Amino acid sequence: MKKAHKIRIYPNSRQEIQIQKTFGCVRFYWNFLLDQRITNYKQKKENPEYIENKLTYAGLKKQEEFAWLKEIEAQPLSQVNMDLNKAYKNTFNSKFGFPKFKSKKYSKKSYRTAVGMKVNGRYFYVSKVGWVKMAEELRFKGKLMNVTISQSKSGKYFATFLVETENSLKEPVTNSIGLDLGLTHFCITSAGEKIDNKRFYRSLEQRLIREQRKLSKRLEVAKQHNRKLDECRNYQKQKVKVARIHEKIANQRMDFLHKLSSRLTDENQIICVEELNVKGLVKNHKLAKSISDVSWNEFVRQLDYKCQWKGRTLVKVDRFFPSSQLCSSCGHNDGKKELNIREWVCSHCGTLHDRDINASINIKTEGLSGLA
Ligand SMILES: [Zn+2]
Repeated sequence: MKKAHKIRIYPNSRQEIQIQKTFGCVRFYWNFLLDQRITNYKQKKENPEYIENKLTYAGLKKQEEFAWLKEIEAQPLSQVNMDLNKAYKNTFNSKFGFPKFKSKKYSKKSYRTAVGMKVNGRYFYVSKVGWVKMAEELRFKGKLMNVTISQSKSGKYFATFLVETENSLKEPVTNSIGLDLGLTHFCITSAGEKIDNKRFYRSLEQRLIREQRKLSKRLEVAKQHNRKLDECRNYQKQKVKVARIHEKIANQRMDFLHKLSSRLTDENQIICVEELNVKGLVKNHKLAKSISDVSWNEFVRQLDYKCQWKGRTLVKVDRFFPSSQLCSSCGHNDGKKELNIREWVCSHCGTLHDRDINASINIKTEGLSGLA
């Protein structure tokens, strides 16, 4: 089983230069190979006798004008070659045409290497860069398949390790649980627990709006003075500020989701969730913000693969199952409940229900009945 762990890294200034050089070379090499591919393709179309002229790193580095390619590790370039071959092959099976060139400004800064890397505690090693400090230790034990070094928009560096791990099945447990993914809370369990989503976006929203407003003002000013954005230091500084808030929100949200999905898959053998049509729901504007906030899709995705890792079962209950209408005590269908109704009394057996807890119990019952 392959597992990925992304860790913030702190290269020193020499290492930073080396990493930036590698980003540049990798981007250049991708564009070079792609251009060559497209040219060859066109030539061949015009002249079927045309023999493809493939120039790769091995030939390129011998030419004096490309000698600078030798300043970086060769491995990331061979990864680029592999990636491009794959992407190029897909050209003819997809409707999107040739792969895209990578622009200096907009393409993601990253490169991958699969040879000669080592991890030791909170340091990792790649050749030509050396030992780099990491924010935390690598979470998984096993064979290191590759590492991708990247830089976020706000300028932080990361290493994503892909590890081939041993079997990570857990001892079976007897609990099972139903989860209702709600709006007032992120998640309500059939055990009666209401887990808050902390509304990450909203807590940082005001700050984001303020900083974004500043950014557009600076854009205006730059336009008025006819200045290139690259040269406007104030604009660039503000752009990084905005990117940082976005990253902060995303990190907090992922951290929350990972902790919760890990705990639930540790504690339960069977987890039942409602399969939701998030796209359909997001069209309703009043709800849109809350729903995007809570990131259901990502949460269910995490539950799914963590269940596989640990030997647990995830059951997805049909989204047309009336989990909020059924009485979990007697099974009576009490009819549709508006979203603002948080509690209701069953007209058949008289049980008082918390809307969400009742729904999650129904989801559990329905999920388990499907397995029996
Ligand atoms: Zn009832």
